[in-house]
Amino acid sequence: MPSATSAFQSKLPKVGTTIFTHMSKLAEDYKAINLAQGFPEFDCSPDLQKLVDKYIKQGKNQYAPMAGVLALREAIAQKVFEATSTEYHPVNEITITSGATEALYVAISTVVNRGDEVIIFEPAYDSYVPAIEMNGGLPVFVTLDPQYEYIDWEIVNSKVTEKTKAIIINTPHNPTGKVWTATDLKQLDLLVEKHDLFVISDEVYEHIIFDGLQHISAASIPSLAARTFLCGSFGKTFHTTGWKVGYCLSPKEFTAEFRKIHQYMVFSVITPFQFAIAEFLKEPEHYLSLSSFYETKRNIFNNAIKDTGLTLKPSEGSFFQNVCYENLSDEHDLALAERLTKEAGVASIPISSFYDQPSDFRVLRFCFAKNNDTLLRAGELLNKVIW
Ligand code: PMP
Ligand code: GLN
Repeated sequence: MPSATSAFQSKLPKVGTTIFTHMSKLAEDYKAINLAQGFPEFDCSPDLQKLVDKYIKQGKNQYAPMAGVLALREAIAQKVFEATSTEYHPVNEITITSGATEALYVAISTVVNRGDEVIIFEPAYDSYVPAIEMNGGLPVFVTLDPQYEYIDWEIVNSKVTEKTKAIIINTPHNPTGKVWTATDLKQLDLLVEKHDLFVISDEVYEHIIFDGLQHISAASIPSLAARTFLCGSFGKTFHTTGWKVGYCLSPKEFTAEFRKIHQYMVFSVITPFQFAIAEFLKEPEHYLSLSSFYETKRNIFNNAIKDTGLTLKPSEGSFFQNVCYENLSDEHDLALAERLTKEAGVASIPISSFYDQPSDFRVLRFCFAKNNDTLLRAGELLNKVIW
């Protein structure tokens, strides 16, 4: 349909379709195995499905409370207390959101005013920058190579100015699979206290962590928790990315401001699913078994591609394995990801799409949250590639 006016001015002039949508569409068009967009190929637990059914039939089908179903907030408070010894009050410090995406967007909107700077570590998940820019803020990048081996805290310190308002962290990290150490969290704590900054901590992969490493939540350090919006998601934890149920934990003064925005963005989140998750959370095995489940998948995929000539980067957590192809090809990572989708039948995500400035580290991200057969088939196809 022809538009009648072009009088609007784009709020996000640099933004197009996300790389996840682009690569998933290409995978579909070419019938390739989709190891690009990060989502599980397998279904969630039948027990969890039965719980949703139960609550729908019980008539839990009208608006949930704006802050979320209390039973779910209580279950989260209990779970976080057991893991970190930090108490979040279910009534005024926990809000159920439409996925972590909404939690992140609202947390960023709550703290960022026009002209404020927000420090981000890149490669970075794609939703942070648009959320900052929509609020008139300016992202300030600490650029790490995709190996993301260690964080140079002197560099981070050097990025702080009078305008710095907040810092966004993500552990376990998408796209690299890096897990922050206790030292990183300690350094962060010192920095944010010194400069009086807010922290937005994206912990959606908290239960997907390998090789005996431990997730260290921002909630586990009381001084850090006191200035943090902690964003989480049940999408990753229960194989339910399509349900879009997440949460934000923060001190009560922060939560009060957060809810002013949340209530006009979505008001509240899908009711019967919240009841179902609250009940399912009572059995910790449902999420404590996740690390070994995904570690096996990581190992199956890595073993399947070990003879391809691709170099494996460390994957300490998350859904993702990054590989370097610099020994095999000179192609730009986007061009190679597209060619592998079309010609080899395996889709991945080019790491350059997680950077602000044009870059090419010759690294691709593969998602191993797939059935073992799929991972083995993808390995066979990648072994046949003529680079
Ligand atoms: N943060 C990171 C690092 C993610 O990978 C994702 C989802 N893939 C999200 C946030 C968004 O989570 P949700 O799907 O619950 O909105
Ligand atoms: N977080 C998912 C990923 O990293 C994608 C989510 C999305 O498509 N927005 O692949």
